[in-house]
Amino acid sequence: MTKSATKVLVTGAGGFIGHHLVSFLRREGYWVRGVDLKHPEFQPTDAHDFQLLDLRRWENCLRASEGMDEVYALAADMGGMGFISSNHAQILHNNALINIHSLEAAHVNRVQRYLFTSSACIYPEYLQTETDCQPLKEEDAYPAAPQDAYGWEKLVIERLCTHYCEDYGFQTRIVRFHNIFGPLGTWEGGREKAPAALCRKIAHARLTGNHDIEIWGDGEQTRSFCYIDDCVLGLYKLMRSDFCEPLNLGQDRMVTINQLADMIAAIAGITIRKLHVPGPQGVRGRNSDNSRLRQVLGWEPGISLEEGLGRTYPWIEQQVRKSVSVAVAT
Ligand code: NAD
Repeated sequence: MTKSATKVLVTGAGGFIGHHLVSFLRREGYWVRGVDLKHPEFQPTDAHDFQLLDLRRWENCLRASEGMDEVYALAADMGGMGFISSNHAQILHNNALINIHSLEAAHVNRVQRYLFTSSACIYPEYLQTETDCQPLKEEDAYPAAPQDAYGWEKLVIERLCTHYCEDYGFQTRIVRFHNIFGPLGTWEGGREKAPAALCRKIAHARLTGNHDIEIWGDGEQTRSFCYIDDCVLGLYKLMRSDFCEPLNLGQDRMVTINQLADMIAAIAGITIRKLHVPGPQGVRGRNSDNSRLRQVLGWEPGISLEEGLGRTYPWIEQQVRKSVSVAVAT
């Protein structure tokens, strides 16, 4: 089937990664439907068709994937550590409903390929207790001890995708993201993740002249961060592959949160003073092992953290500037 004749559904298309993915798939020449509870916040969607649907409901999932050839399932009730560590019941309830119904509806609607977006949060907490931890390989997921209800739900839906593939021959794909960041993502309000939150705090510091930046914990916790353009390209490559098992998608360069803050401050051109305050920090250290990614896709993310932050910070500073000028005007 040609690309233009292939109909693709992106769920969560009003969110950060979904919005970028819709634009990418349009540029590739696909016919794209987006579904979400909300429209994209910062830019109009590029989708041919965009439907506001609550995917916790079975009938809406049936409607969303009707007539679709491929589904990228990104819809989720999610956020950064602050949100994930304090809304367990809501997250497990909402995301389980979304994913169980979305997968079954796609199967009933005879969708050909279905990609589920899982997370590095499925990896056992006992492997992530040190800042200089070993990179996580896909097979490290078991014995299972995921992080928070968010991670448990992702792991169960990974299993569900595997069983749909084994029992029904349904072509499922499973990706495990490691901290995706970039412009057009949530940057305030409590659901933002570390790179966006730090860009916001540093932009605020630059614009107000108060260079004190609050950091949760001692800032020595480590992570890897992957730029959005690499993320959508990797998603697409995985969908096109015939690989049905879980696959990491992230960078394998680990930095501390303190280093991340210093990199952003350098881009902003200011010197910051870090105030270490109590707050949710998640696991102590986490990194992606990209051996299987390289082997399966013959590719891995190539955009450096410096380059990605260099594209992200100016966008967030622009948002902060707008909100500061609105606050002054009112
Ligand atoms: P996001 O919050 O920006 O996007 C998720 C979208 O899902 C939101 O627009 C939200 O409105 C929508 N949604 C929530 N409940 C819904 C419902 N009931 N019906 C329809 N839509 C609903 O998050 P994102 O960063 O774009 O993440 C996309 C996917 O990737 C999610 O499944 C997330 O768990 C996963 N993921 C993201 C990261 C990351 O670093 N951003 C890391 C690991 C996993």
